[in-house]
This record gives sequence, structure tokens and C-alpha cells, in this order.
Amino acid sequence: MLNNVKKTKALLEKHQLRPRKNLGQNFLIDENILNKIVLAARPDPETGVVEIGPGIGALTEALLQNFRKVLAFEIDKKLVGVLKEELAKYSNLKILSQDFLKADLKKELSFFSDCKRVITVSNLPYYITTQIIIRLLEEDNEIEEFYFMVQKEVGERMVAKEGGKDYGSLSILINYRCEGEILFPVSRNSFFPKPNVDSVVIKLKKRKLDLGIKNERNFLKFVRNIFSQRRKTLVNNLLANYMLTREEILGVLKRLALPESIRSEALSLEKIAEVYMNIFEST
Ligand code: SAM
Repeated sequence: MLNNVKKTKALLEKHQLRPRKNLGQNFLIDENILNKIVLAARPDPETGVVEIGPGIGALTEALLQNFRKVLAFEIDKKLVGVLKEELAKYSNLKILSQDFLKADLKKELSFFSDCKRVITVSNLPYYITTQIIIRLLEEDNEIEEFYFMVQKEVGERMVAKEGGKDYGSLSILINYRCEGEILFPVSRNSFFPKPNVDSVVIKLKKRKLDLGIKNERNFLKFVRNIFSQRRKTLVNNLLANYMLTREEILGVLKRLALPESIRSEALSLEKIAEVYMNIFEST
């Protein structure tokens, strides 16, 4: 198992590699954390796992031993070479040398046609955590649960409730699509090289929440738009992003008993859905 700092350094040296900061390469070196993640994801021979950013494969190997198969997306070609060599004995691994954000996810997920459940388990590259999560949640796919290692601050934003400083479009997207919970904290000392921040492992479980929205794509865009300028009120964010008059917007707010001065961060998911439907989907 590639799970302590000595082994990680030796492996990098063997392949003449240095961790690339610009690709968010902080490798997990703490075996205890690795086991906790795998156990949280509930090992199961019928489950397929998507891993984004396998790195040098410490988590990947544990996943291969505990689940049916693993589909791993790695952008760094040199690391793909390392993985192919070090994990050669596993026939249940498919490595894609690709930028996950550009991958044809629908097509690649057919790899799991013989699995009963598909989940994602990943220590995400910090510089694109949000984009990856948006990609996974905005489009429909068969992935049921997500276990992500993310920066502590991002984890807090992901599960934030309305009214707080952490609450924003990411919290709403997640709350709309999933039940989310922070499982446990992870110290910065559990990585090589050591990052400047601590992390958390977060679990997201997909759910079907019917708020009556007809066009989900437009709704999710609306959510992003009303948080585009946090200092502005909801009214001003709407004026900046849509061809609406102040009177039209104020009419809707009045109908929903919301004050003109309200800011988006004060609104629950359900209220945001009401505002959206009253403006764009009322007949
Ligand atoms: N899973 C490994 C571990 O836990 O030790 C490595 C995690 S490291 C935080 C993030 C990994 O994501 C790196 O291997 C990096 O090369 C990879 N990565 C960065 N951007 C990516 C992208 N757009 N698509 C796929 N992989 C990416």
C-alpha cells in the first residue's frame, strides 16, 4: 500500500516526478484516513467507483480492493504512467488519461453496466473542486453517492444553511440535488506535500426533490445569477442578469411577502424556487 510519506517520496523518486502544485497534487499519506474514507463509502462487490484524480494511486488501490471496479480520471500523463505500472495487477481498473471536466461522462459511465450501485470517491484537486462538483450534479447521471475530500472551507460552504456567510449557489445546488453531511475533519499533515489548509471528508447522497420546477437548467442558472454579486440585493442581481423591470420584480417579491431589500443569502432553497417560478414559470 502506497500510504505513508516514505513510500510516497520513494515512488515519486523512482519515477522521477515532483508533485505539481498547479494540478492540486497533494497526496494522501495517512493510512487511517484512507481506511476511514473507504469504510464510509461502504465496501461492496456490486458497487462501481468513479475516482477523479487518482494521483499515485493510494486511494485507488484501497478502492480496487473493496469495490467491484474503479474508473479513474487523471489529467497528468506522467501519473497515468505510474498508475499503469504500479496497479498493473488489478484487472478491475480503467484509467482515463483525461481532464475530467472535458470527459464524456455519460459514455464513460457505461463501464459500470454490471454494477448495482455507482458512487464517486475522490480526494479532489483543490483548484477545481467547485467545477467538478457542478459537473457531477448539474447533469443527470447514475452516480448515487459522492465521498469527497475537500478543503474545509469549501466543505462548510457545501452544507451551509441560509443566512450564514458560507451560504451561496454551491450550497443551493447541493441542497437541491443531495443530502449533504461533513463526515470528519482531515489535518493538513495527512498530505504530502503539506497544503496550507485543513480538509474535510463530505458525503453527498442524491435525492429527488420536487419543488415544481419545470426547467431545471434555467433554475440552476438563476441560482448562480442571483449570487453573482454578493453585496447586491436580490433585486439588483436580477436587474443585472435579466431583462426584467424593477416593477416586475417588486411585484413578485410583494406576492411572496419578501422585502425589497432582501439579499439572496437570506433565502432558503424553497423560497428561491418560489421566486424563480413566479418570475419565469407562472402561467
Ligand atoms: N487521489 C490522490 C491521493 O489522494 O493521494 C491524489 C489527489 S490530488 C489532491 C488531486 C489529483 O487530481 C492529482 O493527481 C491531479 O493530477 C489530478 N487532477 C488535477 N486536475 C484534474 C483534472 N482536471 N482532471 C483529472 N484529474 C485532475
